[in-house]
Amino acid sequence: MREPEIRCPQCKWRPKMDSRWCCNPGCQHEWNTFWTAGVCPACAKAWITTVCPSCHVRSPHKDWYHFPDDDEEVVKEEIAEKADA
Ligand SMILES: [Zn+2]
Ligand SMILES: [Zn+2]
Repeated sequence: MREPEIRCPQCKWRPKMDSRWCCNPGCQHEWNTFWTAGVCPACAKAWITTVCPSCHVRSPHKDWYHFPDDDEEVVKEEIAEKADA
């Protein structure tokens, strides 16, 4: 399986190794949220959204992961689920 590309869904900014996010509101711990899939390693708070340090837009954490081969399949699955319901 290929490594996903991680980038801001809004401005395409890519997190760097030394990028840090603050657990706020929370325990104020600073860490790279993409090393832990959005979970604060200090207090275990799961961050569903991640703010972009470049454009300051808050986006769902999962939207930062881009799988070049999977995008089309995901859309097809969503359509199939709607058809069943
Ligand atoms: Zn925390
Ligand atoms: Zn951005």
